[in-house]
Amino acid sequence: MSPELRRVLAIFVFVVIAAGSAIAQKEARNTTEPSAAKTTPIDPKYTTPKSPLDTSYGAKIAEYTTEKYFMTELVDHLPLSDKVPSPDKVLGYAVGTPNKLTYTKDLYRYYRELAKASPRVRVLVAPEKSEEGREQMLVLVSDEANLAKLDRYKEITAKLSDPRKITDAEAQTLISEGKPFYWASGSIHSPETGSPEMLMEMAYRLAVEDSPFIEDIRKNMIIMITPALEVDGRDRMVDLYNYHKANPGKPVPPLLYWGKYVAHDNNRDGLGLALALTRNQMRTFLEYHPTVLHDLHESVPYLYTMTGTGPYNAWLDPLAIDEFQLLAYHEIEEMTKRGVPGVWTHGFYDGWAPNYMLYIATGHNAIGRFYETFGNGGADTRERTLPAAQTSRVWYRPNPPFPRVNWSMRNNVNMQESAILFAMNFVAKEKERFLNNFYLKSKRSVAKAANEGPAAYIIPGDTPRPVEAADMVNLLRLQGVEVHRATKEFTVKDQKYPAGSYIVRMDQPYSRMADMLLDTQYYNVSDPAPYDDTGWTMGAMRNVKTVRVVDKSVLDAPATLLTQDAKVTGQLSGPASAVAYLINHNTDNTLATLRFRLKDVKMSAAEDSFKVGDQQYNTGTFIIKKDGNPADLRARLESAVAELGLKAAGVEKLPEVKTHDLAAPRIAIVHTWTNTQNEGWYRIEFDKYQIPYTYISDQVIGKTPNLREKFDVLIFPPVGGSAQTIVNGMPKRGDPIPWKASAITPNFGNSPDQTDDMRGGMTVAGVANLQKFIEDGGLFITIGGVSQVPIDYGITTGVSVQQSDKLQARGSIYNSTFSDRKSPIAYGYDASLPIYFNQSPVFQVQTGGGGGQGGGGGAASRASGRGGVNDPDVVQAMPQPRPLDPNNRPDPDADLRESPFFVPPPLRPRVVLRFASDEKNLLVSGMLAGGNELANRPAIVDVPVGRGHVVMFATNPMWRHQTQGEFFLVFNAALNYDNLSVGRSEGRGRQQPSTAEGDDQ
Ligand SMILES: [Zn+2]
Repeated sequence: MSPELRRVLAIFVFVVIAAGSAIAQKEARNTTEPSAAKTTPIDPKYTTPKSPLDTSYGAKIAEYTTEKYFMTELVDHLPLSDKVPSPDKVLGYAVGTPNKLTYTKDLYRYYRELAKASPRVRVLVAPEKSEEGREQMLVLVSDEANLAKLDRYKEITAKLSDPRKITDAEAQTLISEGKPFYWASGSIHSPETGSPEMLMEMAYRLAVEDSPFIEDIRKNMIIMITPALEVDGRDRMVDLYNYHKANPGKPVPPLLYWGKYVAHDNNRDGLGLALALTRNQMRTFLEYHPTVLHDLHESVPYLYTMTGTGPYNAWLDPLAIDEFQLLAYHEIEEMTKRGVPGVWTHGFYDGWAPNYMLYIATGHNAIGRFYETFGNGGADTRERTLPAAQTSRVWYRPNPPFPRVNWSMRNNVNMQESAILFAMNFVAKEKERFLNNFYLKSKRSVAKAANEGPAAYIIPGDTPRPVEAADMVNLLRLQGVEVHRATKEFTVKDQKYPAGSYIVRMDQPYSRMADMLLDTQYYNVSDPAPYDDTGWTMGAMRNVKTVRVVDKSVLDAPATLLTQDAKVTGQLSGPASAVAYLINHNTDNTLATLRFRLKDVKMSAAEDSFKVGDQQYNTGTFIIKKDGNPADLRARLESAVAELGLKAAGVEKLPEVKTHDLAAPRIAIVHTWTNTQNEGWYRIEFDKYQIPYTYISDQVIGKTPNLREKFDVLIFPPVGGSAQTIVNGMPKRGDPIPWKASAITPNFGNSPDQTDDMRGGMTVAGVANLQKFIEDGGLFITIGGVSQVPIDYGITTGVSVQQSDKLQARGSIYNSTFSDRKSPIAYGYDASLPIYFNQSPVFQVQTGGGGGQGGGGGAASRASGRGGVNDPDVVQAMPQPRPLDPNNRPDPDADLRESPFFVPPPLRPRVVLRFASDEKNLLVSGMLAGGNELANRPAIVDVPVGRGHVVMFATNPMWRHQTQGEFFLVFNAALNYDNLSVGRSEGRGRQQPSTAEGDDQ
């Protein structure tokens, strides 16, 4: 039987079975094929399988597809095999069946059956398990001959990735022998449910189908498949979907927890690699060097294939940008030829920030790309309507989606699977072109030091924060970046660097990733609005000095390559007769670990800086006295500091400095039942630094009148919304909405928290409980917009949030200055600190007495008059006394004391950290417009309330495992929670020289 005849018969059979929709599908074929055959390079024979088709599966495809135009001939059938099981044979249903979502254990069961039956499929497991202990599977599909030589193909791409070790001639031989790896990665975003289903069918098709189209992929390429990248979130999502099916008509909660720590932000971990899933991708990349890593997302209709609006990441080889366009337009052309609506590119995102998972490839000379297809958030078939903004015909979307369609999971599968097969076939047929580009990009990365520069980055060996510097170096190494360490002192351009300095050379294959991490960013505010952060400079965010060196002589510095992670071994020194041990406060984050590890040990903090011999000790230095502490203090301290990279110096005489006890407080991290995205990053850091905490929901605050009995410090990380929406939480309408383990939602049981009812936040009862907690001596730390809660509900006075007008400060790094270095929150820090800030809140603080003063024009405003903007005004013809400075009176509060609204100085908000006062010095990395609205604004405000404090952060000090330099602002506040008023310059609230004039007064 000829393939053609088989096909006709197959179609006949499924017409009989599937009636109407099958007829529609046949018509689709008949109408598209003749015209397509003339113009397309893809001949119908090229895409038609030779062997029999699985007609019943094909009938289901047709039945589940809502319109004939959401289909291509690549996926309107499934080849039949009597040896290799298709997904329905293992799962009991075809891919794209309405109302069916597949758990990871069943995804894995299918792939294992597939691998058992087909020599063309191999199942592997990624290096790390997920945070909840699930395996992350990696599936390989290729011709059996290719898989037999897998190690050789891995060796070839590895060699091409490092052109320092091969000649161009050798490269060409390798390129003609080699096979590209094309890596399809499913569902990093758990509510985007289609790709794990689609990938099973694609794997089967690639293993079994014998159309020349598929054979070209299978023979020329090795396909890698990550069935579901966020494995923990996938299972919770399937639970949630099943809950929805079991409770028709009832409200469905949002997927509150995806992974253990973060939700959608798991796709912003490309720089920090804090999550197991990102580290797995990184390590797997470095093992296979895939040519393409293709991340499958769902949001906009119907198929967006990534290029972006620009500005593109400026550290990439321009060839990388060309390849995005090339692949996207190939897919668009092929889909559009077939009459599939709504396939487009350009818009949606910018292409600037490298924090996405796909930078595992893009940042390493390969191609990282993604789709957004249209998903229904589950497997329901439902009518979908679209706003005009998504259906308008614009230059980058000449073939727009429709305003109203009936949409199914199968439509989604058809779109993804067709387009990615076109991309795979294209790369397979052009394999030498793409392997050559990979080699060329790698080669030009090595040439970077000599060509565009810089030559290297240096992390000086005398850094005050050696543990943090080592942590940063180890992250670079995890990114595949080579780091050297100087064996001797060396000099570059008259600048000396000590032995032990780290050197990141730019003549290495992954110089571009290193450069984009370590360099500073400038984002022009006239560019399209950024999709995400605009600045991410690693040294600044970690408060570790890095030096960009263009002088190529740095490459001759005496240094050896680190072959294992940098490790700072701490030490305890000083005589056995020491009366105390001093640990300089250098803001290395392991100092906080030490405090909690030796919880039972009494420690105190120096309230000023001091010297012992030649050694300078910072304000906040830990002083651990022998007296009053356990007898084995020295031994325990010695082993702790050795492991944590700290230096403890024993002294025979106590330094003459005022001290207070350093607490090991009982901390709670607060979450809501509406959003856990941002607080997850706090849990990551607290877990990493082994700082114990209780994880509570805001509802617990509402139900616990005496919070102070349980906790010393409450940390409330950012959630969106106003104070009222935070306090109210999910509306209390209808039936309770549980988030807890049940027969139908077993995986909710692994969530970090559970509840019988997600509705309702802390409520006003919680606000009252909070107020009592603070007044009883507790510390409430509010991050970002959460600061509105104590402000708007009147727990604090004197601080407000201003609406900015012209400020554009999206996810960037700004300079700040400690305006009160005696505050314990500033302990260990230098005078200034780069901080991460994202647009809001902009605080205004009244440090004076009365009710509503403050506000008003910018710092530079003056009356129209003679001279320039900085000249004093001169009133004509009237007496000209030397004006007395109103800010420098002996008693600045003299005229306010009798007001009932007078706030005594000790109760006033204390501005600890401010954004740089000069707009011109504000921006470190990222974007800034309207900087006068941010300059000199408070970044951290400590507000005394009763016996306790509210400490408000305008910044987010624990952001995506990138802001290590700011962590100790939180740790300091917590460790000194009961001594935060230390160092206040009483009675001088309006006079502190660092308190700016103007609108903060
Ligand atoms: Zn997504």
